[in-house]
Amino acid sequence: MDFAELGPYDTVLRGGRVIDPAQGLDGIADVAVRGGRIAAIGPSLPGPAKSVIDVTGRLVLPGMIDTHAHVYRYVTGRFGLEADMVGVHSGVTTLVDQGGPSLMTFPGFREFVVKPAASRVLAFLSAYMVGGLEGHYYPELYRPDCIAVEDTIRSGRENGDLVRGIKGHAEIGGFTRWGDEAMRRAAQIAREIDRPLYIHFGQLWPLPEDAASYDPDAILPEMLEIMREGDILAHPFTRHPGGFVDRHGRLHPVVREALARGLKTDVGHGSHFSFKMARLVLEAGVLPDTLGADMHGYNTTLPKPRGTPDEHPDKEEMHLFAGKQNFSLASAMTSMLALGIDLTHVVRMVTVNPADMLRMTGEIGSLRVGMEADVSVLSDERGRFLLADNEGTQVVAERLLRPVFCLRAGRRYDADAIVLPSPVLAEAA
Ligand SMILES: [Zn+2]
Repeated sequence: MDFAELGPYDTVLRGGRVIDPAQGLDGIADVAVRGGRIAAIGPSLPGPAKSVIDVTGRLVLPGMIDTHAHVYRYVTGRFGLEADMVGVHSGVTTLVDQGGPSLMTFPGFREFVVKPAASRVLAFLSAYMVGGLEGHYYPELYRPDCIAVEDTIRSGRENGDLVRGIKGHAEIGGFTRWGDEAMRRAAQIAREIDRPLYIHFGQLWPLPEDAASYDPDAILPEMLEIMREGDILAHPFTRHPGGFVDRHGRLHPVVREALARGLKTDVGHGSHFSFKMARLVLEAGVLPDTLGADMHGYNTTLPKPRGTPDEHPDKEEMHLFAGKQNFSLASAMTSMLALGIDLTHVVRMVTVNPADMLRMTGEIGSLRVGMEADVSVLSDERGRFLLADNEGTQVVAERLLRPVFCLRAGRRYDADAIVLPSPVLAEAA
């Protein structure tokens, strides 16, 4: 190819370790951007560029995709975070809001969140009429007759550019109250709009008083009858009952069957993340497909909007680095590496796999020439870093990933978000 003929590049990222599982790439290479798109990729690219950024020693990845974000700021009260804080200013180019907007609030989401954000923002539309108001704080708003199936189908169809799936919750608080009816309706919506259903597992709502007891381990098998190939089981590493690990402390026997049927798994990391549960699930041979950070206003240390509740079922702040400012998608990647998942798969979990889940393969999740130039640049540090979950388990990570900057459609954003954690050295703790 004659590069001179193509004219100068806008930006060249020079000398980083480029990992793009979609193209089977892993090696030292330059990435050139022109007109907001990937113009070339290869070792020692010739040709002039307006801006050359030395990324020697850095990881250069396709723009990272956070499959589990909560960014319907203000409308979801304390729950929703500022999109660009967890997006481009945390090295993440695409965010998927999980169940914030609903048929009633989607126009506001498009206008006030998606349009002004520098980050690409997509959504799994809430199955419930009220969406994720205050982080699903009031269980009675989530009963089956608060799901408007036909209207939600219409909202999903008419917003099909942004609505990549449907979000629901299969957990003991809801199943005790109403059984699986709400989830049957959620699945019906997903089928009609031909998008995957993303299901939260692990207790969210408190049990009602004087309720008949319901076995949390019965939820997964019941959901297996409702879910189909391509649907997503979320929170496999949760410590809450009703997840992948049953009451005997073993992988729930139906999980393998679910995966054999083509269901996918997403690590919505969050504050219920448990190293112990993660090890049990991984040792049983289950490797999750995608990785969402699941950050929201109750598990981060941020000022709360006036008048919002203090108490919440998911109110524990997550300090992955033992007491220092919160976490990010990159720190969730660090905890996956600490669990022994290899780097290539961890990169898959935030690039090509979510692109597949969103049915946007070829649009995002790769650095293929011609695609929009969404690129994440991370530092890859070695040492002994102390990680901790909210069960009190401490783990020493020998490798730490930290966002440095990203390009979103070719434009640079530094990773300077207030939520980004400072690592803690194991020796210093
Ligand atoms: Zn969540």
